Amino acid sequence: MNVTLTMHHAVLHRYAVRGALVLALVFLFFVNPATSTLIPPCPVHAMTGLHCPGCGSLRATHALLHGDSVAAVQYNPLLLVMFAAFALWRPLRKVLRDCGIETQRVEARVVSALPWLIVAYWVLRNIPVYPFSLLAPHVPA
Ligand SMILES: [Zn+2]
Repeated sequence: MNVTLTMHHAVLHRYAVRGALVLALVFLFFVNPATSTLIPPCPVHAMTGLHCPGCGSLRATHALLHGDSVAAVQYNPLLLVMFAAFALWRPLRKVLRDCGIETQRVEARVVSALPWLIVAYWVLRNIPVYPFSLLAPHVPA
């Protein structure tokens, strides 16, 4: 009985997370973070003037939902890389397993490298010199 209850909770949790994600995406489809007052500006950027790793991610998601991948890259290029990696990981994992490669070690290395990647991205996108300035959110031309 406890196993069944736990499975119910896991299923409910999965649907709750997916439902919240869909609601957030619907909200971001209709509300443009670049012009709306419903979404407050990034507190890190507001306090320090620096671009955090997430700066531009809501604008990038809004642009992506409207099919503007160029603007999405200009707002937050790492977000697009993360979306692509997340979307491609399952099929890539299947290919790796079919080739006999242990994917758990690869996953562990990627997960352990992720904080370093994010910190490096944070530093690099605040260097106001080309080409690093391309990593900072900028208004599409
Ligand atoms: Zn930010």
